[in-house]
Amino acid sequence: MGYDANDTRPEAEPDVDVVVVGAGMAGLYMLHLLRQRDMSAVVLEAADDVGGTWYWNRYPGARCDVQSIDYQYSFDAELEADWEWSEKYATQPEILRYLQHVADRYDLRPDIRFETRVESAVWSDDTSTWTIATDTGDRVIARHYVMATGCLSVPKAAEIEGADRFGGDVYFTSRWPHDGVDFTGQRVAVIGTGSSGIQSIPLIAKEASQLTVFQRTPNFSVPAYNGPSDAERAAALAADRDTYRDAARWSRVGVPIEPAERGVWQANEAERQAALDEGWADGGLFGVTRQFNDVIINPESNRIVADYVRDKIRAQVDDPATAESLCPTSYPITSKRLCVDTDYYVTYNQPHVRLIDLRETPIETMTEAGVDVRDAEGSIESHEVDAVVYATGFDAMTGALVSVDIAGRDGVTLADKWADGPETYLGLTTVGFPNLFMITGPGSPSVLSNMAVSIEQHVEWIADCLTDLRASGHDVIEPTVTAEAGWVQHVNDCADITLFPQANSWYMGANVPGKPRVFLPYVGGVDTYRAVCDEVVERDYLGFRRAGPSGDVEHDGVVKRLQPDVSGLLQVMADLELPTIESMTPTDARAFMEITAAQRPPGPDVGEVADATLPGADGDLDYRLYRPGTQGPHPIVAYFHGGGWVLGSCESDDPFCRDLCDRIGAIVVSVDYRHAPEHPYPAAADDASAALQWIADHTIELGGVPGQLVVAGWSAGANVATVAAQRARDAGGPVIVGQLLVTPVTDGSREYPSMNENAEGYVLTKSLMDWFWDHYDADRSSPSASPLLADSLADLPPAAVFTSEFDPLRDEGAAYAAALAAAGVPTDYHECRGHIHTSLTAVDVIISGAPIRAAMAEHVQKFFAG
Ligand code: FAD
Ligand code: NAP
Repeated sequence: MGYDANDTRPEAEPDVDVVVVGAGMAGLYMLHLLRQRDMSAVVLEAADDVGGTWYWNRYPGARCDVQSIDYQYSFDAELEADWEWSEKYATQPEILRYLQHVADRYDLRPDIRFETRVESAVWSDDTSTWTIATDTGDRVIARHYVMATGCLSVPKAAEIEGADRFGGDVYFTSRWPHDGVDFTGQRVAVIGTGSSGIQSIPLIAKEASQLTVFQRTPNFSVPAYNGPSDAERAAALAADRDTYRDAARWSRVGVPIEPAERGVWQANEAERQAALDEGWADGGLFGVTRQFNDVIINPESNRIVADYVRDKIRAQVDDPATAESLCPTSYPITSKRLCVDTDYYVTYNQPHVRLIDLRETPIETMTEAGVDVRDAEGSIESHEVDAVVYATGFDAMTGALVSVDIAGRDGVTLADKWADGPETYLGLTTVGFPNLFMITGPGSPSVLSNMAVSIEQHVEWIADCLTDLRASGHDVIEPTVTAEAGWVQHVNDCADITLFPQANSWYMGANVPGKPRVFLPYVGGVDTYRAVCDEVVERDYLGFRRAGPSGDVEHDGVVKRLQPDVSGLLQVMADLELPTIESMTPTDARAFMEITAAQRPPGPDVGEVADATLPGADGDLDYRLYRPGTQGPHPIVAYFHGGGWVLGSCESDDPFCRDLCDRIGAIVVSVDYRHAPEHPYPAAADDASAALQWIADHTIELGGVPGQLVVAGWSAGANVATVAAQRARDAGGPVIVGQLLVTPVTDGSREYPSMNENAEGYVLTKSLMDWFWDHYDADRSSPSASPLLADSLADLPPAAVFTSEFDPLRDEGAAYAAALAAAGVPTDYHECRGHIHTSLTAVDVIISGAPIRAAMAEHVQKFFAG
């Protein structure tokens, strides 16, 4: 095999091309594929057999929670044809038999060294090799080093006072005895109610004479309805295997299920109930929580689904106090891994089963005889037991990686590099550790997906990468600092628009004391992730540096720059193949915008919404007033909608105005100024000035505070707002205390780099902008059309200017902010990373815009505060 315990050779020639650590589902396939690519490899495995998770976790009731038909390899059709699962959710012994069968079928064992724990790995820049040392004294030198060590393979310590003192039998679900445990007639304590506890408790209760469950945090669990394989799925797979497997690969979670198309807010009460009933009846991970598409992003939707599940828990448990203890309330549903159970809740109806809620009576200490808990008054209750089962979980995702002493370039260890949280490029590689690959590492979909699909994708990507390296004459690959930082940012951006970070979960590292709180997996979806990995390769290993005999090559860059929800929306729009606005007549374009607007979330409720008219420059104009629910009077924001002087209305910007009203606590008066081409330049600007004057003159009647008037607008609305502000300054009134300008049009006289950089693909295109200007028919050299061209910007009210990174108008907004500041106007400028022209105002559609709108509101509040 090319290695030897007594080997003292210098670290020059590698013994093997690749060392793989771990012989679970990942390591087995990695070895198989490397062999197919004619690369020499050795697998080092701590256990005495293959199987990984399914080797170690032998507790009663252990089975998969993704249906077996989906939770298996798909790389070989013949392997699939040869294996039939006996149940919808196979048991641990059956899954272990399957992995053993795979090892035998491809004759993998000769290249696996069992009972061999890897302790350290050291990179040498001189020889471009890794030297891997094990607890058996072996040393293996390899060109490439693959950690297939699993996301859930390092058990977490019990962390309970006096744990060593207990005199009875102690078991960890994650290290269960191979010959099983017979609890018949025993008093048993189970500590922990995650998936492992929830699966094992009903079966332990069947044997034990007394079972006491110690629960710190309840979990949401849904019924498995286990039985024979799902007939519909089996038929779909049998009918067209390739299509079925491809659908899984390009799905959000690695399982071919139709994604929900509506949010909870789009269904009425009866429809919601029907959908949730149907989901509950289906059971499993993708039942009740997958009926709507906003459960993990919208707190209200989440509450509705969580309430439904809590009611189901109450319906199953006889004792109301026990039922309440079992109902999770401290985190959103699905922000922790959902559990899938068989008879979990009804187990508590048995007289010999008792739940101890550790939030009310925490564990004081373990004693020789059992577990002592303390109540609020300080009284101790002792629970004497014969055996304790710890179902206390894992040091997930990073535990196995940092528990090996991996020293990369300049001797920096992985543990040191990741002291504040893991940093990876694609969850596959990390800067400073050349030729090191992780399978399902942090920053990849991993535990948020069907791991079988994610493992195959990673293994295949790594094998392809090594094959490409060999073909291009390179032997070293490492990500760039820029690429890694960009990916870490993107992973965080994805998590930040969800409710996941609100839970103290192992996804956040929160279950291990002292572990940094970072959201570890990539929540952007298996499909998006696969597309990103493919794109990196298509762009000739974007974000990687390769080196070797054929020279160095580096393609620096960031693969995902748009905010994830913006990118998702653009994808949906592209899929719809909508006609361009500029291909329509203004009338058709307005009708089209109205249809689109009717399909969005409505925005927050406010105290009052009232429609009325005010006098414009040449006739009455409609306006809509939004009043906060709080006691008035309130300051006033005069708002002008977007739409390129051609489109838009009070209705088009209604959610944004509600949001501003709600966040600022101000009256918002949204004015429907006249539109081109029917009313070309300067009608819109003249109306804005007239409206502003009228609002100032009617402050008291509107319920406003005299002298507390801010002007605001988005896009062309921000253009007329700036013009109105300049004219007010020149005319000596009305008094305006601030201007909020969101992606404003400020200069039609010339093109800025952003106009060409973002000419296409981000909703507002260069050609649409031309269409707007053409219809407005303005004198672009006049400050009434191009406010940046005003002779002076001095003495204007303080301004907050927001632009978007991927907006043709970005640079003219930035130029206006810079000119205001240069003229001595207090100005705050924000370029919103990863946003487009239309995303900042898309309330409840683009979640990543919410903190930006909060910042807008803060600025306006400051204007009012003076
Ligand atoms: P593992 O199976 O964890 O294998 C890693 C191997 O590396 C282990 O054998 C370990 O001994 C070895 N190893 C680690 N460190 C070292 C070292 N330093 N030296 C030598 N060897 C080392 N996922 C799903 O998608 N669906 C499910 O239904 C599902 N059910 C699960 C149930 C349980 C009880 C658990 C714990 C996890 C479950 N998972 C499930 C996640 C599961 O871990 C993955 O699906 C998959 O089995 C991981 O395979 P792996 O090869 O990446 O890692
Ligand atoms: P887990 O979800 O982390 O649950 C651990 C449990 O132990 C939690 O209830 C935790 O409470 C409790 N706990 C930990 N330390 C404790 C202490 N000192 N005192 C009291 N309670 C303590 O671990 P797991 O159940 O092993 O599951 C881990 C993951 O493995 C799952 O989320 C899933 O991905 C996978 N898994 C899947 C299946 C399946 O159905 N196929 C089965 C098992 C595991 P707190 O929540 O308060 O920390």
